[in-house]
Amino acid sequence: MTENQNPFLTAYHTPHQTTPFHLIKTEHFEPAVQIGMEEQNREIENIVQNPEKPTFANTIVALERSGSLLDRITTVFGNLLSAETNDEMQSIAERIMPQLTAHSNNISLNEKLFFRIKSVYESEEKESLNQEENMLLQNTYDGFIRSGANLSEEQKERFRKLSSDLSVLTLKFSQNNLKETNSYELPLTQEQLEGLPESAMEAYAQTAKEKGKENYIVTLEAPSFIPFMKYCKNRELREQLYRAYNTQCTHDNEYNNLEIVKKLVNLRLERAQLLGFETVADYVLTRRMAANSNNVYSLLNQLLEAYTPTAQKEVAEVEALAKELEGEDFQLMPWDWAYYSRILKEKKFNLDEEALRPYFELNQVIEGVFGLATRLYGITFVENKDIPVYHPDVKAYEVYDEDKSFLAVLYTDFHPRASKRSGAWMTNYKEQWIDEKGNSRPHVSVTMNFTKPSAEKPALLTFSEVNTFLHEFGHALHGMFANTTYQSMSGTNVYWDFVELPSQIMENFAIEKEFLNTFARHYQTGESIPSELIQRLADASNFNVAYACLRQLSFGLLDMAWYTRTTPFDGDVRTYEKTAWKKAQVLPEIEDTCMTVQFSHIMAGGYSAGYYSYKWAEVLDADAFSLFKEKGIFNKETANSFREAVLSKGGTEHPMVLYKDFRGKEPNIDALLKRNGIKNEI
Ligand SMILES: [Zn+2]
Repeated sequence: MTENQNPFLTAYHTPHQTTPFHLIKTEHFEPAVQIGMEEQNREIENIVQNPEKPTFANTIVALERSGSLLDRITTVFGNLLSAETNDEMQSIAERIMPQLTAHSNNISLNEKLFFRIKSVYESEEKESLNQEENMLLQNTYDGFIRSGANLSEEQKERFRKLSSDLSVLTLKFSQNNLKETNSYELPLTQEQLEGLPESAMEAYAQTAKEKGKENYIVTLEAPSFIPFMKYCKNRELREQLYRAYNTQCTHDNEYNNLEIVKKLVNLRLERAQLLGFETVADYVLTRRMAANSNNVYSLLNQLLEAYTPTAQKEVAEVEALAKELEGEDFQLMPWDWAYYSRILKEKKFNLDEEALRPYFELNQVIEGVFGLATRLYGITFVENKDIPVYHPDVKAYEVYDEDKSFLAVLYTDFHPRASKRSGAWMTNYKEQWIDEKGNSRPHVSVTMNFTKPSAEKPALLTFSEVNTFLHEFGHALHGMFANTTYQSMSGTNVYWDFVELPSQIMENFAIEKEFLNTFARHYQTGESIPSELIQRLADASNFNVAYACLRQLSFGLLDMAWYTRTTPFDGDVRTYEKTAWKKAQVLPEIEDTCMTVQFSHIMAGGYSAGYYSYKWAEVLDADAFSLFKEKGIFNKETANSFREAVLSKGGTEHPMVLYKDFRGKEPNIDALLKRNGIKNEI
């Protein structure tokens, strides 16, 4: 194969220069990545060798724009690795990922390059830069500092050692979780599975069959474990499975994570301190909307105070039901929670997810969601079959702004297939930026795994799938409305605890009658979704909401307890954990259980000192949506102000500034309390 046959390296003609999926073959990626890296190396070399004195334009902007070829290739590759993969793609990934890491390390540890960046950062030119330029300079400088560029040789050595130890231990932590989960099985007979729905029984029988065994097998994987705890009538078995689940990676075997947790926490602390921060939380939060750990604790504690009384009532109500069914001396334990909560929920709301499906036929839902964007922002969607796609299920739309100018390309990919990973996500095939040639518009994609159509029925979604669609579509709007000069700050490239605002705010529409009435009609009779059903949906969405909130808060407190430490930890992990989240526990604590050893979000997944973000984003979306509630949910003025202040600005300003531009004030928890029906005034 020669270079001129590689679509990444030659000119092609597609509408809006969209990715030429019809020309791309798996064998094109690897050689293109090599050439992309070489090209960026030349670009970096040109910056470093520039005889002129370092300026914002010849250094910061030049660096920002370097690697565009590599970026284009790795973006397409990474997206397809999730949405349309095969064994060959996976093995290419294993080969090129280490090379790409080494490539980016070479750039961030390039001393001559850092010298130029630092000299721009410390120059007077900084004063004359506008807001967005200043942000780019700050981000670039911070990025190098945080990669250890400003350390002495000796410190750099230590920094590299810490980073490599951390990546080895992180991997080990995750592998231990996986292996411990996979090594457990609970064989059961039909009688022991009393209470379980047909679908779960079938899955357990299937698991047994796959393992070459008789009867049924329950495992600790979520799709197996969750229905078991919700439906299994046999209390001893629920306890047995609960204990198995919550003592994973604490046993006296090779998969024990107790010592690894200590090492992970201490290595992260040492690395943060080497970079000049007092704690890991300080290191993380300087680049978050929350800004510091005081603000995080303030949020967690306010919510704790507001939700605890309701959570206690919820527990009492579930316990009362259990006593009613099992006898007066029944004491509710953690392994009873999911089971009796489910029974109570069925009793109170009698809500059958399946009965809602006929009102959520996929094509009507698409019409509803696109129509919402048209109502709010005036944008329109036109399918263009000339835009190449990577799978026949994928559709490509041209999106036009209210003034008919071209805004973005939107790909939709709704149904599961063997080549796609599970879950739902939004991604870009191309981001947005402005250069000499003009405003280069983005190519955005939403990928889901929704219920498929069958021979008898069209695709009928569940209510939670409708929610997911709105969520990912909210991220897509953030991408499509992007309007910044620099790609690295465009669209969804914002601080971590701000990125879920545009997505979660859209979920608020899902239980609004005015919105549902625009599209939710029975696919056979055409009848609109009954108001009474909408009301029940809304009520049920707050069922045990305070208990759920306290659970999230307990995880947030645990995360902060590990990462606000100023000294290394050398105690008992289980005791430390129980103390850290004590005030958020409303059910009895069980000795020997441990969450930290399997809490991969904060130990292996990048959420260290970041778990609070889930609640932070919820507070934001409720506070932001309350303005829509006040002005009308389709109010165009409010929508356009949200677009202008938040969606179009990406990461060009601190999120608190953007938020206040939209909302006129800082967010508070009141709107969330109201949405959740929490009565207590605080
Ligand atoms: Zn999201």
